[in-house]
Amino acid sequence: MRICLIFALIFLLNLISAAEIRDGRLWLSIHITDGSSHSLSSASAISLSEENSPLSITCSGKLQLQLTNTDQQTFWGIVNRSIPIEQDTSTVTDDESVRQKFVWQKGRLELQKELLMFEDRYFPTKEAAIRYADETGYTTQQIQAIPMQNARLKITDEVGGVQYLQLPVRASGKNSIVIDGKETGFDGELIISATDNGLQLCNLVSMEDYVAGVVPNEIGNNAPMEALKTQAVTARTHALSLLLMNRHLGDGYDLCCNTHCQVYKGKYLVDTAIIKSVTSTADSVMLYNNYPADAVYHSSCGGKTEANQNAWNGKPIAFLQGVTCHPQADSLDLTLEENSIQWLNMESEQNGMSSWEKRSEEWSRSISRATLEMNSGVHNPRYLRVLRRGVSGRILRLKISGDSELNVEGEFRIRKVFGGLPSSFFYISNGILSQGNVYTLNSEIKIIGKGFGHGVGLCQVGALQKARNGWVWHDIVSSYYPGVSYSADWLPSYIPTQHEEDN
Ligand SMILES: [Zn+2]
Ligand SMILES: [Zn+2]
Repeated sequence: MRICLIFALIFLLNLISAAEIRDGRLWLSIHITDGSSHSLSSASAISLSEENSPLSITCSGKLQLQLTNTDQQTFWGIVNRSIPIEQDTSTVTDDESVRQKFVWQKGRLELQKELLMFEDRYFPTKEAAIRYADETGYTTQQIQAIPMQNARLKITDEVGGVQYLQLPVRASGKNSIVIDGKETGFDGELIISATDNGLQLCNLVSMEDYVAGVVPNEIGNNAPMEALKTQAVTARTHALSLLLMNRHLGDGYDLCCNTHCQVYKGKYLVDTAIIKSVTSTADSVMLYNNYPADAVYHSSCGGKTEANQNAWNGKPIAFLQGVTCHPQADSLDLTLEENSIQWLNMESEQNGMSSWEKRSEEWSRSISRATLEMNSGVHNPRYLRVLRRGVSGRILRLKISGDSELNVEGEFRIRKVFGGLPSSFFYISNGILSQGNVYTLNSEIKIIGKGFGHGVGLCQVGALQKARNGWVWHDIVSSYYPGVSYSADWLPSYIPTQHEEDN
C-alpha cells in the first residue's frame, strides 16, 4: 500500500528545479539553512506566495515560520536512467518527473531538461539511499531528493496572527530579508520548502549578486581593488564549474553556502568596493580549451602552488600544475627536503600584509608525542620519514615509526595527524635530521610551516601582494592559471518572451 502511494507521489510530484534564467540572467538557488522553525524580518513588507498556486499573502514585522505536523515526508530515490528532453518540447513540460541540469554547449551554459526514471525503491533518509547505492553500485550522483509536497507552513506574525500556506513557498520583499536575526540580509527571493530536516531555506539570487556575496567572505573587503576583482572572477568561474559538476543536483538546489562550495552570506559585508569589483568584471570567467576552468583557490601557498593531482586524486589539469608565487622561491626545487627546510627557515617579505595573511603565510606549532601517538595509533612514535613532497613543498606521503609504524598519504590526512595544521608544508625544527629525510621526534615536536590550505590554483595572499604591487586582475589570475582565456559571453542563449518584445 505504501509503495503504491509513493509511486503515485513520484509521478504527481514536481521535482523542484533550482536554477532559473530570467531576463537573460542566470539565477541560482543557494542553500542557506535547515531547521524546524525560522524567523524572517525585513525593513519592508514580505510577500509570501505558494509555488504551486496563485495564492499569495503580504506580512510585515518579524514572522515566525514553522512546519506544521505532517504525515508526509521527503523521500530519496535513485535515478537509474535520465533522458534529455529538447528545451522547446511542450508535450513533456507538464510531466512532473522532469529536472534541469547544467550542461556546456557550444561555449555556453545551458539548462538541459531531463526526464527521470527511478529505481523501484525509495528511502526515508539520504543516508539509507547512499547505503543502498553503495551496495548496488549506483553512484551518489544518482540519488535524488523527492521533496515533500503540500506540507503546510505556519506563519505567525508579531501580534500573534496565524496564516497557513502550502509549501513550497517563495518569499520576497523590496528590502533584503533577514533570516533568524543574523546580521546579514538576503536580496532576491527565498524558496522555503519542506525536507526531512524540517524547513529548508534557499536564496534564489542572480549569479552576479551571488558573486558579490562570496567575494568579501573569501578575501575580506579591505583588499585592494585588483585583488577584489581577481576574487570576483575566480569565484564566478569556480561557481560555474561547480554548476557544471551538478554536485547538488540531487539535493534540489545549486550550491551550498559554506566552504564545500563557496562561503556566501548574502549581503553581509557587501559594500561599494565589492559591488564595483563585480560590475567591472561583469560575467567574466576563465576558460581553458573553451570550457570553464576549474578555478580552485586557497588562502596561501607558502611560496609555490601545488599540482592538482598531488592534492586530490585525479588526472593532472594543465593549468593547475603549480607556479611560483613568491619570486624568492623560484630557484628552489621544493620537492627536495633540504630546499624545503631552507625556504621554510627564510622569512618572506610581509610588507602591507594584514594579520590573517601573515598568519597563513608563515606559522609554527608544537604537538606532544603523546598527541601524535593518539592521532596516528603508532605506539611510541620516534621517527618521521618524509617520503614525498609536492611542487609546493607540501608533504604528500610520510611514515611515522616507533613500536609500530604508519604510512600517511595525502596532504589533508597529514595535517590531521599532526593536530590540524594549516598546510602540510612543514618540517620538524627540533628533530635531528638523518639520511636526508628522517627526523627524530622529541617529547614536544616543534613544527615550522608555511602556507594555508591545499595550495592548488589561486593563492589569495599572493594575489593580494600582487595587487599591492600594481598588478591588474587578469595578470594576477593568469599567473595562477597559466594558459586560460577570458569570456563574458557564456550565458544561456536567450529568447525573449512575447511580453518582453512588446515592451
Ligand atoms: Zn556545496
Ligand atoms: Zn602564494
